[in-house]
Amino acid sequence: MFCVYDLHSHSTASDGTLSPHALVLRAANAGVQVLALTDHDTTAGIEEALSAAKQCGLKLISGVEISVTWNKQTVHIVGLNVDPHNQALQEGLCELREFRDWRARAMADRLEKAGIAGAYQGALAHSNGVLISRTHFARFLVEQGVVSDERKVFKHYLVNGKPGHVAGKWASLEQAVDWIHGAGGQAVVAHPARYRMTRSKLRRLFRDFIEQGGDAIEVISGSHSRDDYFSMAKHAQDLGLKASAGSDFHSPENPWVELGRLPMLPDNCKPLWADWEVSFENPSTRRTG
Ligand code: AMP
Ligand code: MN
Ligand code: MN
Ligand code: MN
Repeated sequence: MFCVYDLHSHSTASDGTLSPHALVLRAANAGVQVLALTDHDTTAGIEEALSAAKQCGLKLISGVEISVTWNKQTVHIVGLNVDPHNQALQEGLCELREFRDWRARAMADRLEKAGIAGAYQGALAHSNGVLISRTHFARFLVEQGVVSDERKVFKHYLVNGKPGHVAGKWASLEQAVDWIHGAGGQAVVAHPARYRMTRSKLRRLFRDFIEQGGDAIEVISGSHSRDDYFSMAKHAQDLGLKASAGSDFHSPENPWVELGRLPMLPDNCKPLWADWEVSFENPSTRRTG
């Protein structure tokens, strides 16, 4: 028997469209047995997700996806099995959310100069009021009919050099790994193939991450290609990093990414979860789900 893991997902606590409860139910229906809720820079959805998971017999891993600035570039570090009550973690996440609010106002000012009014309130209305993300701006601009879909909003308004872009000033790699470890968790580089780094730059990121004590990289991700699975598996093997797997599910409206619909980890990988105690029958590391 194998066990279906999905160790990266989002709810309405950050930029997902399902409540933590609905997300857990959808995961259970999709056959996921171990799900991590990893909202951006907040653990606000964990309590609701844990109680939903209890109801449907799914194991919920308390997680978070921390925004990091490394070498002037934004990268994401997932923390798994973190204690959501850890004070240093919560203080760090709180600062990131404060930066998000400042950035959102600065983005709205810039968009206003580009002829789009009311973007701060508009984006806020798409959020849960606690955490504001570029995704909420994207949804507002689509709703306003400015652009036809979210991807195009990013491309034309929200990335470097475009009218609504404001550079991120996130946590350092060291802070993110320390907060995660301080809260008893494991640190994972999220979707490494998505950063469009050269091979040597990616290796530098991994080496810095190892120096800080990082644990694993996502080999399988909803945003990785088949080729990416194998190249990331090779990096992990070469560097002695463990491998993780997660869909990065945000919304049922994106048909390309579904909870638990992930291939097996390549054979040369050491699964991050190999020594986790998962309290249901006969979990195996043969399959990621
Ligand atoms: P933020 O952390 O607020 O800067 O927003 C980053 C989030 O925006 C990511 O987690 C994705 O969910 C989403 N995102 C980033 N790039 C794109 C894109 N090109 N198309 C659609 N969504 C994107
Ligand atoms: Mn997101
Ligand atoms: Mn991410
Ligand atoms: Mn994510």
